[in-house]
Amino acid sequence: MKEYLIQNAKTFTGETVTLKGWAYSVRKSGKIWFLLLRDGTGIMQIVITKTDADEASFDIKDVITQESSVIVTGLIKAEPRSPGGYEMLASKVELIAVAEEYPISKKEHGTDYLMDNRHLWLRSKRQHAIIRIRHTIIKAIRDFFDDRDFTLMDAPIFQKAATEGTATLFATDYFGEKAYLTQSGQLYGEAGAAAFGKIYTFGPTFRAEKSKTRRHLTEFWMVEPEMAFHDLDMDMDLAEDFVSYIVAQVLEHRRPELETIERDISKLEAIQKPFPRISYTEGVKILQENGVEFEWGNDFGAGDETIISSQFDKPVMVHRYPAAIKAFYMKRDPENDKQVMALDMLAPEGYGEIIGGSQREDDIDAMIKRIKAEGGSEEDYAWYLDLRRYGSFPHSGFGLGVERVVSWICGLKHIRETIPFPRTITRLNP
Ligand code: ATP
Ligand code: MG
Repeated sequence: MKEYLIQNAKTFTGETVTLKGWAYSVRKSGKIWFLLLRDGTGIMQIVITKTDADEASFDIKDVITQESSVIVTGLIKAEPRSPGGYEMLASKVELIAVAEEYPISKKEHGTDYLMDNRHLWLRSKRQHAIIRIRHTIIKAIRDFFDDRDFTLMDAPIFQKAATEGTATLFATDYFGEKAYLTQSGQLYGEAGAAAFGKIYTFGPTFRAEKSKTRRHLTEFWMVEPEMAFHDLDMDMDLAEDFVSYIVAQVLEHRRPELETIERDISKLEAIQKPFPRISYTEGVKILQENGVEFEWGNDFGAGDETIISSQFDKPVMVHRYPAAIKAFYMKRDPENDKQVMALDMLAPEGYGEIIGGSQREDDIDAMIKRIKAEGGSEEDYAWYLDLRRYGSFPHSGFGLGVERVVSWICGLKHIRETIPFPRTITRLNP
């Protein structure tokens, strides 16, 4: 049987079709009642009159409640005054299940209450729009790399060693041995770059973030491209192409959703290449000029990132950070031993870091020195060091956090609404 979805109404205007969904709202007035039907793809007004519908269908108005499930059959016509631009004149309404009193009414609720009811909250217009934008962002991510000769190469989730420092590791028992949930697929991605040239890993990432912020989840999705024979400049070129592509795809395919959440679309339309590039040292100058007492060598905090990024109306790429605050695998700057060839991309409007990346250290001695300085051992990274033993090669990559990008593109106040079921220090349910 042919399936009719509200989002495709344009293609079946003038036809008599059957739609299946839930009662978003019901309005009655004498010989006519109106049902806003939600089918997961859109909302359509259903008009039920005594003349066009049978009596049993008409009488459903007396028992139907918000979120009751229904199947309706009728004629579709264009109606510019209706939500979505179409409506149905019903000939038959079938009540599948009457919903109990719905806990999420149209009145205002606090965020904690809504998060406790996240399984239901996802049905609401705003949450629905955000998750559909998320979907388009993820599709854009895959299309971007698939269209540019990258091979998808997923990394394991159970890992033996830390990639991003030990402070945020989630440990678990692995048949009597200690294992950690992945913080990054990067080390495996580097093995992939040597095998396939250009790869990307894409999967869930776990970090035991112990402080409450608007930017950190304990479980998030990260895409990590890794490219052989790419230096830091090529890495930045790719990052800029990538982010401008994602934004363009959202603008092309999710305008109604951006309107639903009342996003200022002009801000997104400004996201065109090229993006500004500044060094960490120039970033420090910006802070000092803005009255922040900031010493070269410290890491930028969220407030610092906001000040730097607010100088620009596009994402800004900050490169060449102090080695001491960056991971062991980043390549030393050949022109300044205190720096590494790192790059962070900071989103505008105060959204902070959306990308972290670097050119990787390809000198085995420099890398071993760095591992030891951080208290690690050669054995911990034995297979990883092999990549430097067997045909070491210049290579670069970066990680982009999906939820950070959703948060910025949707203009959200908090990262918790960017993922269907967020995990934070205080939330494991639902
Ligand atoms: P931050 O300084 O904001 O904690 P980070 O330097 O730890 O970020 P990276 O290790 O470079 O981040 O990770 C790459 C990307 O993954 C980040 O640019 C960001 O988009 C995303 N990311 C990192 N940690 C989180 C988190 N806890 N929740 C959501 N996204 C994250
Ligand atoms: Mg972090």
